[in-house]
Amino acid sequence: MSGLHFSGVVLPGGEGEFWVSDGAVHLSDPGGPATALTGYAVPGYVDAHCHVGIVEDGEPDLVRGRALALEDVAVGVTVIREPGSDLDTSPLDGQPGLPRLVRMGRHIALVKRYTRGLGEQLEDPSQLVDAVRRRAAEGHPWIKLVGDWIDRGVGDLAPLWPDDVLAEAVAVAHEAGAQVTAHVFGEDALPGLLAAGVDAIEHGSGLTADTIEMMVEKGIGLVPTMIQIENFPSIAAPAAEKFPTYHRHMLALYERREATFRAAWEAGVAMYAGTDAGGFNVHGALPREIAALARVMPAHEALGAASWRARQWLGFAGIDDGAPADLVIYAEDPRAALADGALPAPSAVVVRGEPADLPR
Ligand SMILES: [Zn+2]
Repeated sequence: MSGLHFSGVVLPGGEGEFWVSDGAVHLSDPGGPATALTGYAVPGYVDAHCHVGIVEDGEPDLVRGRALALEDVAVGVTVIREPGSDLDTSPLDGQPGLPRLVRMGRHIALVKRYTRGLGEQLEDPSQLVDAVRRRAAEGHPWIKLVGDWIDRGVGDLAPLWPDDVLAEAVAVAHEAGAQVTAHVFGEDALPGLLAAGVDAIEHGSGLTADTIEMMVEKGIGLVPTMIQIENFPSIAAPAAEKFPTYHRHMLALYERREATFRAAWEAGVAMYAGTDAGGFNVHGALPREIAALARVMPAHEALGAASWRARQWLGFAGIDDGAPADLVIYAEDPRAALADGALPAPSAVVVRGEPADLPR
C-alpha cells in the first residue's frame, strides 16, 4: 500500500503530524507517496475484555472467531484481551487485518460454579494451585479465575476459593511470569483476591470503599465491563423465584453500578474499557462501553481507558516513532462527541499498519 500522512490532533497530546509506511509510524517524512488524512488520531483501541472464542449459540471455531474480530476492527479495535476461551485462537495470530490477541487460555472455575460447559471446572478448590501451574505452563500472559458465582446451596453469589489457596495460586502464577485476573460480581470474593495480589478484576460491580482502597494501594487494574453489568436484570431474572436473595443482590449491584465505578475512578483505580462480547454482548460494541465509561469519568479519560492507557497497561506502544501503526481516525473531536453521549464512526482504522475495510 502507499503511505499515509496525518496532520491534525494526535491524542492524547495536541496538534501534530506523523506518517505511516511499511506498517510503522514515523514522526518524520520517510518519503514516497502518501495519502493525506486530517482530523483526530487516536492510538488503536484495546477491548480489554472480549471473547472471539466464545459464542452464545453452537460451537465456536476460527472462521467465526475471525469474522467476530473483524466486527471489532470496524469500530477501531486493534488489540483484544481475551479473558478465557476454550477455543485455541492462536492460529489467528499474525493474520493481516486482525487485531492482536492477548490470551488467557481456559477459565479456571469449579463444577456447578460457572457457565455450564465453559472453562476448566475443578472438583475441589484444593486443586486450584495445580490448575494454575498447568495453565501457566501453556505460556499465556494472563490466567483467568472465576472468583465468584451463584452458590445454589447458599442461594446467593459466593466466593469459589479459600483465601489461602488463592494466595498460593497467585504466587505460583507470578513465579511462572503470568498475571492473574478474576471474574467477580459481588462483594465477598474481592478481599481475598485483592489480598492474594491478583493483577486485575473483571466486572467488579461489588466494589466497596474498602476494596476500592485495596485496588488503589496495590495498583490492581479494573475492567468494569459496564455494558455487561447493564444485563444484570436479564441475567438474574430466571432465578427470581428459586433464588430470590441472589436475584435481589444482582439488582442491587445493577442499581449502584455507576456510583460504584464513579467512586473507583475518583479514588484512582486504573480502569480499562472491555465489552465482554461473546456471551450476552455483541462484538463491535466498544464505542458503547467507552460512552458508558464517559458517564463516570471525563470523556478524555474514557477514551484513554480504551486507547493509550490500555495500550500501555498491556505493553503496546502508542503513536510513537517506529511503533507498529494502530490508529483510529475521526473527522471530528471524539471527546466532544462523547460528552454529547456517543462516539461517531471513525473515518479510518489502521490495524498493524494496514487500513481496515469499514462498513459504508
Ligand atoms: Zn467475559
